[in-house]
Amino acid sequence: MSLEINLIDDSPLTTIKKDSSSRKIRFSCITQSTPMTADEILKLMENSSEELIKSDSKEEIYKNISDRRCRSDGLMNWTSYGDKCIGCQILYRLSRTSTLKNRELEISIGKYRGKKIKIFRVPGFREEYRRNKILETINNKINKGDENFFTVDNKYINYVFISSVYNYIFKDAGFYNQYLWNYGCGDKLIILKKIIPIRSVRILSQNPYFSGVRSPVENEKVEIIKEKTCFQIILQLLYICTTLRKYNFCHSEPVIKFISYMEKTNTFQLGDRDFTTPFILVLENCCSSSISFEGKRYCKFNSGKFYYQGLPVEKIDVFISPTQNFTREEYKSKEYNKARCHYYLIGNRLQGFINYMESGIPIFADSFQIICFFVSYLLDPIFYSGFSNSEIGMTIWRGLWRGEDYNLLMSDMRQLRDKKRNSTEDIRSIVRKYYIRIDALDYLVHYFTKQKENC
Ligand SMILES: [Zn+2]
Repeated sequence: MSLEINLIDDSPLTTIKKDSSSRKIRFSCITQSTPMTADEILKLMENSSEELIKSDSKEEIYKNISDRRCRSDGLMNWTSYGDKCIGCQILYRLSRTSTLKNRELEISIGKYRGKKIKIFRVPGFREEYRRNKILETINNKINKGDENFFTVDNKYINYVFISSVYNYIFKDAGFYNQYLWNYGCGDKLIILKKIIPIRSVRILSQNPYFSGVRSPVENEKVEIIKEKTCFQIILQLLYICTTLRKYNFCHSEPVIKFISYMEKTNTFQLGDRDFTTPFILVLENCCSSSISFEGKRYCKFNSGKFYYQGLPVEKIDVFISPTQNFTREEYKSKEYNKARCHYYLIGNRLQGFINYMESGIPIFADSFQIICFFVSYLLDPIFYSGFSNSEIGMTIWRGLWRGEDYNLLMSDMRQLRDKKRNSTEDIRSIVRKYYIRIDALDYLVHYFTKQKENC
């Protein structure tokens, strides 16, 4: 029997509408004969992250929906024979087409009509997170942590799981990532992501609402973004990073290619202030991101790359900073306390640092992440064009670094910006060379939320 999906929009019977909106359906209990509207399906997909995270056996993420016998490959290969799995039938009913072009599904019915979803087919079937005691031992040595570590071999399963935790954490705050839903079909994992059209600062700046004054010379098009928009980006990023810090989140590749923007108003609290922004910053995690949730740490298994190698930084040092220090421990002299600042230099230990990070062992995760994102933004010519106009913004940025490093750092960044380079490797090649403030995230939150002009 096929899955039935009714069009409630067309139904003359309002009582049916009422009934269906109060029905409680979960993906884990639908069968091929469960009648569902397209809107209900989309809602279920939106709620699937929460359903997974709240389930008792969340490490077995394939308990969701999976069918090894299906041959239609997530609607990529629609054959006339054999039953389609429930997941593929759901996709078919949403799009009303039997084959998908460009891996994109356009919803053809209901209130989400016209919205597009991207379908990814990746290898993997029935892989689960397993306890990893080696990582626990290393984490105990490095961080004195006593968490239970869980790793999974398949990086896509890790992507789905971390994305689900992310969506769950930010559910009430109005932030989310692209991830929508997954199911198992044949020997593939099918991942659905929302298509977010504004994929870069450049595209965001094409909206006159976010773009600043263009060149006064006719015919010479200079793209520029408002200082205020730059600040709204930074504030949202700081909010997201501050929230994720509670979960010891490691992105692993903190660069702006993982960030996109939705034109939708959002309000959030940072420091002791409320902020409202006309767009939402959508941060996508990557396949080797890791997170701690309810006493367990979830990460991708990093085979062969990993062994205990001590603290993977070249130096940790204390310098007197011209700006306020946010490190929490106390020393004897108040004046010294206020001015001293802990920094670390990754230097020649970069590979070890990356191995730890990609294996899920957090080391200076919050400061490293925010510094990498910030460097990546300032390598973006459009963002830089707006942000560098702000005296206060540049002063805050300068305060992140040691005075003697600043000019060299800016010259390194200028060279990369001129060559239009902004890859993960480019960012790492820069940040490894300079001392990074351990309190970078608190420092930025303090100064960005204190200043009034652009917020
Ligand atoms: Zn299927």
